[in-house]
Amino acid sequence: MTAATTIDSVDTVTVDRGPAEQDAILDIRNLQVFYSTPTGDVRAVDNVSFKVQRGEIIGLVGESGCGKTTTAMAILRLVQPPGRIAGGEINLDSVNLADLEGDDLRETRWTKLSLIPQGAMNSLNPVMRISSQIKDTIRTHEGRISNRELKERILQLLQLVGLPSRVYDMYPHELSGGMKQRACIAMAIALDPVLVIADEPTSALDVVVQRVVGETLLDVKERLGVSMIVIGHDMGLMAQLVDRLAVMYAGRIVEFAPVESIFNEQFHPYTQLLIESIPSIKEKKPLKLTEGLTHDLRTHMQGCIFQLRCPHVMDICREENPPMRALRSRHETACHLYDDDGVRLH
Ligand code: SF4
Repeated sequence: MTAATTIDSVDTVTVDRGPAEQDAILDIRNLQVFYSTPTGDVRAVDNVSFKVQRGEIIGLVGESGCGKTTTAMAILRLVQPPGRIAGGEINLDSVNLADLEGDDLRETRWTKLSLIPQGAMNSLNPVMRISSQIKDTIRTHEGRISNRELKERILQLLQLVGLPSRVYDMYPHELSGGMKQRACIAMAIALDPVLVIADEPTSALDVVVQRVVGETLLDVKERLGVSMIVIGHDMGLMAQLVDRLAVMYAGRIVEFAPVESIFNEQFHPYTQLLIESIPSIKEKKPLKLTEGLTHDLRTHMQGCIFQLRCPHVMDICREENPPMRALRSRHETACHLYDDDGVRLH
């Protein structure tokens, strides 16, 4: 069975694609990424911890500036000054990427983890054929390799992402948006990485092509067993694609659960507002807005980070930071509204 793919049906997702819990390929612990400013550090990612299992797709959702892309850049060790990894571990296959430098770090990128960047289809070199761009990636990391072998590998990659072999000799401007995106996916998996990070992989594509690109990513995962982190705003895509979903707010994960669990039952008020804001094609309803603004990320917020915007804020929320707790099987959230069994207290 495949997951629900339309926004109208995301609230009835019932599939369970979750792989075994114990085989983590990525283990992030207390990750902190800060940006220095003249008036203090902006805590863009603050104590984020999560695991990605082998062959699992994790989705990261949340509003712009919540730390999704910064988390991805930290995993890839691509955070640039004035940003820095201020603390924590990024264990990929038992190697802490936060400790790697120089050649070790370069070797890890593409061969162990790769990126499909935001607006990936515009990252293709317009004056190089698709095959030449994939060849460059392979040759840079694997050195000498015969032209014949290279061609065979590239044709296999194109086939894997559903592109016809004629794309081998084509230039980016000869491809549609969806084909360019699939060429970028082919490049990202060219060196058989264990983890692929896709940053907004379907932005700027129409809904039909979005679905095709989503299916391509799922197909790649099934056939190669690669793990993925998918970043995005599109809850319909998340329902179609991911195994577990992490909801981020102000640099932290506030709810983390199997995708079917989170669409069926949301605990954190921010997640509830996110789900309620999904437009429906069946019924007209007013656009739901989350009132207020995120707090200043340069200042330490005592208590819950969502207190300034939460419709259910209580006294305890202003005093104690709620810890992440499992309220259902594998369904964790950080909120004072519930007891340990997920029963609402207030
Ligand atoms: Fe709202 Fe309090 Fe829960 Fe934070 S802890 S989300 S302020 S109810």
